[in-house]
Amino acid sequence: MSLALVWFRRDLRLQDNPALQAAVDAGHVPVPVYIHAPHEEGDWAPGGASNAWLNRSLAALDADLRARGSSLVLCRGDSQAELERLIAASGAVAVYWNRKYEPATQPRDAQIKRDLREQGIEAQSHNGSLMLEPWEITTLQGGPYKVFTPYWRNALTRLQLPAPVRAPVSLPAHPLQGEALDTLGLAATLPWDAEFWTHWQPGEAGAQEALTVFIDGALNGYRQQRDLPDRVGTSLLSPHLHFGEIAPWQIVQRLQGERSASRDADIDGYIRELGWREFSYHLLHHFPQTTDHNLNPRFDGFTWAAPNPAQLQAWQQGRTGIPIIDAGMRELWATGYMHNRVRMLVASFLCKHLRQHWREGARWFWDTLVDADLANNTMGWQWVAGTGADAAPYFRIFNPVTQSEKFDPQARYITRWVPELAALPLKARFAPWQHPHLLAEHAPGYPTLPLVDLAAGRDAALAAYRRTGGA
Ligand SMILES: Cc1cc2nc3c(=O)[nH]c(=O)nc-3n(C[C@H](O)[C@H](O)[C@H](O)COP(=O)(O)OP(=O)(O)OC[C@H]3O[C@@H](n4cnc5c(N)ncnc54)[C@H](O)[C@@H]3O)c2cc1C
Repeated sequence: MSLALVWFRRDLRLQDNPALQAAVDAGHVPVPVYIHAPHEEGDWAPGGASNAWLNRSLAALDADLRARGSSLVLCRGDSQAELERLIAASGAVAVYWNRKYEPATQPRDAQIKRDLREQGIEAQSHNGSLMLEPWEITTLQGGPYKVFTPYWRNALTRLQLPAPVRAPVSLPAHPLQGEALDTLGLAATLPWDAEFWTHWQPGEAGAQEALTVFIDGALNGYRQQRDLPDRVGTSLLSPHLHFGEIAPWQIVQRLQGERSASRDADIDGYIRELGWREFSYHLLHHFPQTTDHNLNPRFDGFTWAAPNPAQLQAWQQGRTGIPIIDAGMRELWATGYMHNRVRMLVASFLCKHLRQHWREGARWFWDTLVDADLANNTMGWQWVAGTGADAAPYFRIFNPVTQSEKFDPQARYITRWVPELAALPLKARFAPWQHPHLLAEHAPGYPTLPLVDLAAGRDAALAAYRRTGGA
């Protein structure tokens, strides 16, 4: 039987994996391969938390393959050179992979496909991670969408989900051997990720389990609860989606099977959130420069404050003196994740109250989030900063105190992540500097003043915005 390389990238699953399926259907012996080539990701090589996740996800994929009689071949180096080396070593006649959409790797993959075909090797790419590929829908004028609602309205008319494909029950053995996982240098050198793994189970089984837990729990009432950080009100599937341990259409298919009058609104609300993920890939494809530059060029003249490393560090370490901000940043550091509502608040505080460039925040998230995703992260930061597509206007500035009173009314989220405030009476936990005596008595280690006076920070941001001519 002929051999075919199946080049795994961000599709670390066996079920519903179009590239693997195509290789099997064509009658080849699939040789599963993962090539570690972070230098090919341009300025956006995966950060520390991503690498820590990937390390475990690759181990899980290898174990799943071994349970079926195959194994994952791990290599390091230039992707094309490694593929060609493996082809020469094995006599493989084809290479199958699922597409990635980042600006640095899309042209690389296109080049590899051309070169392999020129060498007489069959090279096939498939869609393994999106319900609609970024170029599949356009506005009536034929251009890209910049506003979510019409994008999603159009997308919903075109969704055709692939039929479910089970993971192969067994796979034939292949002759190739790769490097040991620990030689890839993915594991964190300091054990800063130790707490992550009490929250997460990387790999396909972990993804399916997370989906089941969501369907049995937080899906009920999702639309109301998804904004409340003091509980598990969302699916926590984002890192699994990022690494392709589950595909969005698998989630939608499972949810369609759960429909009932009482669940429809929550299911539709959830699928709409998956729609934002689709939209972010649409934007990244059409506006690849936006990982580093404003989507709205009118913001290019905006006067950000001078870089302030001390403020940035206080924000990163959760020492701003504003409890909801500190809680979010500490949740991120401890778990590699932050609730969506709180992501918006910490991002708004950085870009507006502190007027630090959104890129600074995007970089920190990139290094610390287990779900760090170039499309979603870029869109999220530009949305909050007001510089992006369909963005929250810059002049709409979240007040972190009133937001925490509204979305964390019992201060449970705050107290969980900033436990030194637990001894304060509830009324003092949202803006403790307004209660200096209580703060001194009950939480002496906590900052006595916020990093910036919230009213003054807001006024300065609005003044800067007006100087740009209202962007
Ligand atoms: C500043 C900022 C940065 C962000 N960076 C990332 C990032 O790097 N990676 C990432 O996956 N998400 C990012 N998000 C979006 C969102 O916060 C997370 O997707 C969500 O919190 C993940 O939790 P969940 O899986 O429980 O979400 P659920 O509410 O269960 O949503 C299900 C899925 O829908 C998608 N989704 C939900 N909300 C959004 C959104 N606003 N934009 C795009 N997709 C969405 C995600 O894939 C998510 O897993 C960012 C948001 C902001 C405001």
